[in-house]
Amino acid sequence: MRVEERLMRYVQFETTSDPSSTTVPSTAVQKDFAEVLAAEMRAMGLANVRVSDTGYVYGTCKSNTTKKVPSFGLIAHMDTAPDYSGKNVKPRLICNYDGSDLWLSDTVVTKVDEFPAMKQYIGKDIIVTDGSTLLGADDKAGIAEILTMVEYLLDHPEIEHGDIQIGFTPDEEIGRGADHFDVPGFGAEFAYTVDGGMIHGVTDETFNAAEAKVTVYGVAVHPGSAKDVMINSLNVAQEFHHLLPHISRPEHTEGREGFYHLDSMSGNCELTHMSYIIRNHDLNQLEEMKKQMEQNAALINDRYEKQVVELKLRDQYKNMKELLNEVPHVCELANRAVARAGYTVVNEPARGGTDGSTLTFMGLPCPNLGTGSSNHHGRHEVACVQDMEKMVQILLNLVEEVVNL
Ligand SMILES: [Zn+2]
Repeated sequence: MRVEERLMRYVQFETTSDPSSTTVPSTAVQKDFAEVLAAEMRAMGLANVRVSDTGYVYGTCKSNTTKKVPSFGLIAHMDTAPDYSGKNVKPRLICNYDGSDLWLSDTVVTKVDEFPAMKQYIGKDIIVTDGSTLLGADDKAGIAEILTMVEYLLDHPEIEHGDIQIGFTPDEEIGRGADHFDVPGFGAEFAYTVDGGMIHGVTDETFNAAEAKVTVYGVAVHPGSAKDVMINSLNVAQEFHHLLPHISRPEHTEGREGFYHLDSMSGNCELTHMSYIIRNHDLNQLEEMKKQMEQNAALINDRYEKQVVELKLRDQYKNMKELLNEVPHVCELANRAVARAGYTVVNEPARGGTDGSTLTFMGLPCPNLGTGSSNHHGRHEVACVQDMEKMVQILLNLVEEVVNL
C-alpha cells in the first residue's frame, strides 16, 4: 500500500488522548486503533506482534542476514493532540498545490502568510482537512512511513537487514507516551522516533524541563477596614511574576533560549495558585532559573516578614543530548540516511520534549526524525505525499546504514 493511502486510512480512526483521564491508555479509542495496526502488521508477516494491556503495539521485522547487525527500533505515536478535534477526520488530497491560500471549507482558509510552511509544498501533492478537525499526520504519518518501509523490505528479501523493532505508543501528546514502554521487551539497542516536521531534521536535543507550583497566601479582611492588615494574594502573585525577566517568556524566545511560562493562574484575595513551566536546553542554566525563583520567593517573604509565597519545584524531563553524545553513531547513522536522500541535515534542538528523550533516559537512545508534515495540532495541519515518500526512502537508507555499521 502507498504511504499516503495508509495515512488517509489511519487518520479516519479517532485517537485523541485526554490529559484529564487516569486510565492507560487515556482513551479507549487508542486501543481500538492499536488492534487495527497489530492486525495489519500480522497480515504483513511481521513477527511477535502484540498489543500490551496498556495499549502499546510491538512487532519485529526479522533479520534476514547472517551478519552481526545491531537490532534497532522505529517508534511513532498513535494518539492525536487534545488541542483540537480528531473525530470524523475527512482527509482530502490536493494534487500539484499551486501555493495559493487554501480553502479547507466555505469558511476556513489556510492563508500562506499565516502558515509560511505551505510554501515548501508548491508543486507537490498535499493532504489537508475539511477545516473541522486536525489531520492527525502527527503522528500517523510516522506510522504510515514505518509500515510502508517495512512492507517494502518484506517484498524485497534481497535487501539485507538486521532485526528491526517496531513500537507504536499511546498518549504521547499528553506526555505519557514513554511511561509504559517496555524497553527490555522491545529488544533494540537504539531507536528513532519518527514524529516531526521537515524530513531533513534529525533532533538529538530537547529542553531540560521543570515545573513550579506557586501558592500565595493572603490575609482577607473587609476592604473598608483593610489598612495595614490586608494582604491581597492576587497582588503578591503579580509581584512575584514581575520579578521574573520579561524577556524570558515563550513569546520572546527561540532557538536555544530558555523561558519561564506562566501556564495558569487563579485566585482571590486570600489564596492564589500559579503554575509555571521552566525550560532550558542547558541544565546549568535551568538550575539557575530554578534558583532565581527561589530567591524571588524569599525576597517577597522577607518583604512581608512571613511566608506569603510557597514555591514547589519539580523536575520533569532532561535534554537527551548528553546521553546521545555517549553513543554518537546513533545520530550519525540518521544523519547519513538523510544526506543520502539528497538533503542537508538540520540538527535543530527541539523546543519541547519528545518520547525519545524519556526513552533515552530509560536506556534506549532515541533521537527523532521528521515525517513531512506541518501545522500540527490544528485544522491547518498538512502532510506532503512526496515528502512522506522521501521519508520512507530515508528509513530504508537507515536500515542499510545499520547493516553496514
Ligand atoms: Zn507528535
